[in-house]
Amino acid sequence: MKMKKTPPTRYPGLRGQIFLIMAGVVAVLLLVLWVFQLFLLQPMYETVKTRELRRTTDRIASAADEEDFQTYTDTVAKRTGACITVYEIVGRGAVLRVQSHIRGNCIIHNVSSSPLMNRLYAGAMQETYYMERISDSVFAAHPGEGQVPESIICARLATTEDGSNYFIVLNSEFELGDNTWDTLTMQLGLITLVLLLVTAVIAVVISKYISRPITQMSTEARKLALGTYDVHFDGGTFRETAELGDALNYAAKELSNLDTMQKELIANISHDLRTPLTMISGYSEVMRDIPGEMTPENMQIIIDETKRLGALVNDILDISAMTGSSQNTLHCEIFSLTETVRRTLDRYGKLRTHDGYDITFACDREVFIYADRSKILQVVYNLVNNAINYTGEDKKVQIRQVTENGQCRIEVTDTGEGIPAEQLPLIWDRYYKVKNYYKRSVAGTGLGLSIVKNILLLHGAQFGVQSVVGHGSTFWFALPEVTPEQDM
Ligand code: ADP
Repeated sequence: MKMKKTPPTRYPGLRGQIFLIMAGVVAVLLLVLWVFQLFLLQPMYETVKTRELRRTTDRIASAADEEDFQTYTDTVAKRTGACITVYEIVGRGAVLRVQSHIRGNCIIHNVSSSPLMNRLYAGAMQETYYMERISDSVFAAHPGEGQVPESIICARLATTEDGSNYFIVLNSEFELGDNTWDTLTMQLGLITLVLLLVTAVIAVVISKYISRPITQMSTEARKLALGTYDVHFDGGTFRETAELGDALNYAAKELSNLDTMQKELIANISHDLRTPLTMISGYSEVMRDIPGEMTPENMQIIIDETKRLGALVNDILDISAMTGSSQNTLHCEIFSLTETVRRTLDRYGKLRTHDGYDITFACDREVFIYADRSKILQVVYNLVNNAINYTGEDKKVQIRQVTENGQCRIEVTDTGEGIPAEQLPLIWDRYYKVKNYYKRSVAGTGLGLSIVKNILLLHGAQFGVQSVVGHGSTFWFALPEVTPEQDM
């Protein structure tokens, strides 16, 4: 058998594809991370900072009349990184209450009467939380101390429970420093590198797990295609590949069975064909060469063997038709089963009169069924044919039609040797013959009942056999009765 060449690979391998997909996902993730870092980090930082400053002024306001207020503001300043200045409003003036420094050069220290303070105070009169951004030039109280980042001031007026009024001013850095930027960028760079490496490793591992069973299965499939049935498909640990493996193992087993059956069938058929052919050629030669051997008996042997050959060929044709593509196709119609049985028997009647067969058909009325007429005819023919072949010395074959519970049952009874109980389930198998049981040799192929079984199964019919060794057998089948005008 010639094997087709593997088509050239049109797509990248599993490993490459998985890597590409994962790399794509990682690229999207990194893009999102970088976009956040470059465009959204500063605005987000500002929002958080503003909210934190407001909350801090609230906390300072509620603690303003406490004795250890200075300690409290020192702690808050350290924790939040904001410089704090609190004035107590007394009459028309403002007295410094506390001051907590984070940076020495903070603009809100000791500038109580500066225009900035006046502006902040006016702002705090208007809004609960007055916020103002201060550029670095203004922030730097001592110019020349280097670049000072932009800061934000939050000013708030508060009245404590004892009626004292306070002016709270907080100043906090509002810009991420260069160091922070550099650190974050470096971190992101490292994350990118690590993610790409991890992606590559995961892609290799996953693809190995997925591609291993697929590669194994395709190697085994090639062997199977070359006719080696001793193969095993290992689907691995993934559900889908495992199911594929099971399905292929099943297919391989079925193919192997089919192959064995085919070989057996060919061996059996050739054997069965050879016997009558040897007889025919042997007798013909004897009749040609030896004077006086041209007797009717010898001629009869040739005729019998020819018939046997014909029956054999017919059975083989039937069985191949049943297993061919049309096996599941039934051409159903409503027809008279009674009439069909009767016509089958007529054929036998003419053929068997001079052999003295007593074939009877008992039926009380005409019954119609919905089925494939030619296939049911074949069933009746095969059952009656077997009964004639295997019936006893009295050559009696009885056919009965029984109708009950809407079912029409056809029974074919003979008076033969019967079939041993342990063989009953086997006789329906293709090519099975009860061996060495009968005294007389019967021309059979072992295919007849398997054809019957196939046809009846296709019709969903009930069927079976009762047999008593030494007394005979009754083969039967039953199909639902219909009325001739019924719509199907
Ligand atoms: P065959 O062509 O050999 O008759 P079948 O498939 O029709 O093949 O039957 C299978 C086997 O069942 C036969 O070889 C025979 O041993 C047994 N068998 C079938 N019908 C009868 C019967 N009416 N009485 C006894 N044995 C039977």
